[in-house]
Amino acid sequence: ENNNLDSVENTLRNGIASYIDCEAKFWSNIDQKGRYGSLTGTPFDIDKNGHTRKFVGVRRDITEMIETQETLKKEMKRAQQADKLKSTFVANMSHEIRTPLNAIVGFSNLLPNEEDSELKKEYTKLINTSSDMLLRLINDILDLSKIEAGIIEMATEKFDMSQCFIRTISSLKKMEHKDVPLITDNPYSKCVVVSDKNRISQIIVNFVTNAIKYTPYGHISASYAYEEEGIKIMVSDTGIGIPTEKQQLIFQRFEKLDDFAQGTGLGLSICKAITDNCGGKIGFRSEYKKGSTFWAWIPCPLKEPVELF
Ligand code: ADP
Repeated sequence: ENNNLDSVENTLRNGIASYIDCEAKFWSNIDQKGRYGSLTGTPFDIDKNGHTRKFVGVRRDITEMIETQETLKKEMKRAQQADKLKSTFVANMSHEIRTPLNAIVGFSNLLPNEEDSELKKEYTKLINTSSDMLLRLINDILDLSKIEAGIIEMATEKFDMSQCFIRTISSLKKMEHKDVPLITDNPYSKCVVVSDKNRISQIIVNFVTNAIKYTPYGHISASYAYEEEGIKIMVSDTGIGIPTEKQQLIFQRFEKLDDFAQGTGLGLSICKAITDNCGGKIGFRSEYKKGSTFWAWIPCPLKEPVELF
């Protein structure tokens, strides 16, 4: 499999007096697989015509060394990609922080001097949504360090999932676009479970904010149910969808498919870290230009029988 080897064979067969040094892949009959070898030799017995009669040399199996080199190359490429993603993340971050911060500083300066009550309401709303955005961003970054250290904490508290859903959705309602309604389905008036309500709420918030970001028209629906001894959250949208070839990327840290969209690329990787941490599952179905459905399942015991609406 190597030109070097051909010239070495030539050298050996024709007795050409030259030094041999080559590396080649060869088939090993012993372990029935391709292995790498290095061959180094020097003429040892040369006749009067200058032809080599004997060579002395060493043949070494360098398979492990070559395989280690290949692994190192792959690791280096991965590290370079991760480094590039981190740099993009830092660049995105400064934009992501500055945008809501500018809105908070700008509108709170205008607020005291504004006479018009409608405008006052509008400024207050903008300050509120921008502070929410900033807070979420800071929480995501703090969570990221926990993910990197492999410690995502999950509380074990008794709470009513029905109330948690109502509260989470009402905090999201203010982000809803008027022509893309957020339709919700809360199947239970009471659903008492033991899990971490903030983490479950965080997953709903991430799914819904993504759906809002990537759905220019149509509608978004959010629901949950107690299924197979756990809470299953589902958020569907009629948005831009995710091209098939990019679908395997989206749970990776810092991964953003659209550089111009708002976001840090952390939300879904945090959701995945949460579900992984508690033995749950996460997934999605998406069709490019048609929409997506994101779901997560968190195993948790039910403390009382559910009560339907
Ligand atoms: P981001 O902060 O960029 O939204 P996420 O980790 O939440 O980061 O999502 C990663 C990427 O997955 C997004 O940048 C987007 O390209 C894609 N994505 C997530 N949710 C949706 C959705 N509902 N519709 C279309 N694309 C989505």
